[in-house]
Formats: sequence, C-alpha cells, structure tokens
Amino acid sequence: MLQQTQVARVLEKFAPFVARFPSPAALAAASEDEVLAAWQGLGYYRRARLLQAAAVRIVEVHGGVVPSDLESLAALPGVGRYTAGAIASIVFGVRTPIVDGNVSRVLQRVGAKAGASNDAAVSSWTWERARQYAFAADDVGVANEALMEFGGTICTPAAPRCGACPIAHLCQAHARGQVAQIPAPKIRSPRSEVVMVCVRVTRDDGAVLLEQRPARGLWASMYQPPTVALTIEPAKGITPARAAKGITPARAAKLVAIACKCKKVGELEVITSHRVVRFVVFEAQLRGEFPAAKQLTSPSRVFVSQAKLREFALSNAAKRVLALAAK
Ligand code: SF4
Repeated sequence: MLQQTQVARVLEKFAPFVARFPSPAALAAASEDEVLAAWQGLGYYRRARLLQAAAVRIVEVHGGVVPSDLESLAALPGVGRYTAGAIASIVFGVRTPIVDGNVSRVLQRVGAKAGASNDAAVSSWTWERARQYAFAADDVGVANEALMEFGGTICTPAAPRCGACPIAHLCQAHARGQVAQIPAPKIRSPRSEVVMVCVRVTRDDGAVLLEQRPARGLWASMYQPPTVALTIEPAKGITPARAAKGITPARAAKLVAIACKCKKVGELEVITSHRVVRFVVFEAQLRGEFPAAKQLTSPSRVFVSQAKLREFALSNAAKRVLALAAK
C-alpha cells in the first residue's frame, strides 16, 4: 500500500483492509470487486490485483503461509527484487540487500556515484554496494530499515541535513561539494495524452449509471460513468486539444451510446504514472423516465443508488468526474 501512496492515506485503509482480509486465504477467496472496493482511495489498483494474485499463489503453492526464502518471494505476483529483499531481510532476517529511492540516494552520495538512480549501470552499482552493506551488518533487517530511514529523514532529496549527519566524514559527495548534483534526476519517458468523453446519467432517485472497464489496461475492471476514449492522431492534426474541442452534447451521447439528452459540464485533467488523461464531462438527468432508464442498462451498465456507491470500486478519476458532473 505504501508504494506510491502517502502514509496518512495508508493509515486510514490498512486496518480495515487487514480486518476484512486477515490472511492470504481470506484474500485469495474474495472476489476481485470486493478487493478493489476495499482498496478504494489508495489508487494504483494494479497493486490490489497483484496482492490478491500473490495470496492465491501463497495458498496454492505454499499452504497459505508466506514463504521466507528470496526465490519463492520473488516468484509471487507483484513482488520484485526490492519487495522480496525487504520481506526476506526485515521479516525473516535473510542476509540480502534492498534498494529503494532512499537507499540509492544515500549510497550514491556516500560513494559520489553520479547519474540517475534508474540508469542501468548506476542501479547495478547501487545493488552491489547494498549487498556489501547487508553482508557487513550485524542485524540485516535493522540495518536495511535504518538505511531507508536515514535516506528519508537525514539524507533527503532536496535538503539533506549534512550538518547533522553522523556519516558526513565518510561521504564523498559532501567532501567534493557534489551533494546537490547526486543523484541526477530520474530518466523518464514522456506521458502519452488521452482524451476521454464521459456522461454522468442520473435517475430521479439519485442513482447513477456505471459501467465496468475492461479487465486489462488503465483502471482495469473498475467502475466509471459511461466513458469512451477518443482516437488521437497528431500526425493527422488530431491533437488532444482538437479532439476534445469538437465534442458536442449530441456527439457525446452517441459516442457513449446513451440515448438521452445531455449537456456539457466541464473538463478535467488526471495525471497517471504514464498518461495525461483529459476528461470531457457531460451530464444527463432522467426525469420520471424509468422505462428509458431501463433501456440504458445492460450486463455491463447498471444504475447504482448513492447508498450502494461505496460498494463499487471507482478510480479517483471516476470519482472526480462524478463530482464535477454533480456540481
Ligand atoms: S553528508 Fe549529507 S549527502 Fe552525505 S550522507 Fe550525510 S546527509 Fe547525505
């Protein structure tokens, strides 16, 4: 939960999640909808799916008990080198390194290793340094946690507290006056731009029409108001701004296959790890037209009452769209 999500938000969600799924077996037996609903508010729902897939493997291969060896941990869905090393060393005391952003920054600065932490050569240098550190430690779990904590509290990215640093005398970046340059900014590929048209359809009684997204890709299997992504072809002059501009209410209704009148309520932008998604939001209010409301439902589209909305896994983007349309 803590990967990419703030501690304060995780603190609200962790206890209810663990109370609801107290063991790998309980998590493995739950439906994906239940798990995603319990994950709501944490974002990056792929982690929830992978956590459940890991629980299934733990039940099927390891008798419901989390394995302690690095190889079995690394074979669990969603568990990479860092997570396997963290669980193995901190929980089970296995002598193995872990490298996260904090560890990488500290080791690079102490060794004056220039470059971005996600550069392949820098990364392999850092893992080797972390391995030497893990093998020199008395208690590898405590040592690994200490290094991460040190990076989070003393050797911070923008304002490291070198004056209060207990290992300043060992730090080569400090000695050479290179602290501000190490590490270099991460290498990032540019985000792609996406335009989505969506219509919030509300019944007289306040129920809203939701549909489930495809099982793969962005916000997989999550619920949203009827939405369609537009084709963007900059080479043919169809830029995101141009695509979004040409959407009339009638066109929006046609695109999302909603046979009712709607009006535009605004636009909003959502930035994900790999995309910038611009939503063009419309709203349709059905007044006493319950037969018409029935025609809008299908196996993948259902009207959901306000009271039941919490039981449906909505991405933060879908929640923002619903809130904008409700205004
Ligand atoms: S001296 Fe400064 S840059 Fe070097 S390890 Fe300490 S806090 Fe980090």
